Amino acid sequence: MSPFWEKFFYLLTFISQGSSFLNPRAYAILHRMHHAYSDTEKDPHSPHFFKDVWSMTMQTKNIYLDYLLHRKEPEPAFRGNYPTWPILDRLSDSWITRVVFGVGYTAFYIAFATHWWMFLLLPVHFFMGPIHGAAVNWCGHKYGYSNYDNDDHSKNSLPLDFLMMGELFQNNHHKSPNDANFAKKWYEVDPTYHIIRFLHAVRIIRLRKIRS
Ligand SMILES: [Zn+2]
Repeated sequence: MSPFWEKFFYLLTFISQGSSFLNPRAYAILHRMHHAYSDTEKDPHSPHFFKDVWSMTMQTKNIYLDYLLHRKEPEPAFRGNYPTWPILDRLSDSWITRVVFGVGYTAFYIAFATHWWMFLLLPVHFFMGPIHGAAVNWCGHKYGYSNYDNDDHSKNSLPLDFLMMGELFQNNHHKSPNDANFAKKWYEVDPTYHIIRFLHAVRIIRLRKIRS
């Protein structure tokens, strides 16, 4: 995408992820490590090295913070080709920003919730990023079926992956990580791919390869 659209989506991601914004550079480094070392000890979030999803998520958070705060530098193979926006990177990781978003979500509930129990859903909004990450990283390498032998434990968890917008086709994704379409079989649907195709059709992004 062009530098304008890159900034646009960076900002849109910040606004929509809000209190649980994940920094693109740190996210990219972790994701590249995950692909290079899938389900080995060097994988930042393999469920096969932890007794529960909580301990896996805590380790993922620590490794994420190492790269976010430059406490550690990544291996050369995992560097570069990610967007950075120094001012927004600092702003998005500040506690003031997180609290402002949290207060905003709570105010929305105060204005629109019709039953008290709805307020129990607020933590989902506060921790949307880590919850999504934990679900994909844990389930996607533990539960479901495999189309390919990738020499790891990656699985396709749901044939109709509407819950995680296609991201739970981990087995397909590890087989061909550069394919924007995570669905491979006729009964698999990757909703995000269709959004990507739309963005390509209206020339906001340019896909290098298109599969029909
Ligand atoms: Zn994976």
